[in-house]
Amino acid sequence: MADRSLRGMRLGAQSLQSEDGVIFSERARSLYLCPECNHESALMFAADAEAPETWECRHCGAEAVLMVGSEPVVIDRSDQKQARTHWDMLLERRSRDELEELLEERLAFLRARRGQHKVGA
Ligand SMILES: [Zn+2]
Repeated sequence: MADRSLRGMRLGAQSLQSEDGVIFSERARSLYLCPECNHESALMFAADAEAPETWECRHCGAEAVLMVGSEPVVIDRSDQKQARTHWDMLLERRSRDELEELLEERLAFLRARRGQHKVGA
């Protein structure tokens, strides 16, 4: 937590102090509203980079939420938890073709096994 707040402060200070009020075409200003203390933080991000949905409030350290227009962005928490699924990791190790092959093998195995069951039943 201490580490997080340090990083947030340093990054924020860099973005704001020298460039506040100056509009750079390649930069976009993002507003974060803190639900705890109502403090608004303005941050500059490269226009082609996606601003993070939350930023640590400089006033109280709570999680401030990115504003889109006058509304805070809706944060999908479930998405963060499942950022990397088992399936994603599998795809990093295996190509799609390999997976198709494995699936075929597995299906063949299951079919064979089901066949054996039927014989027994
Ligand atoms: Zn706050």
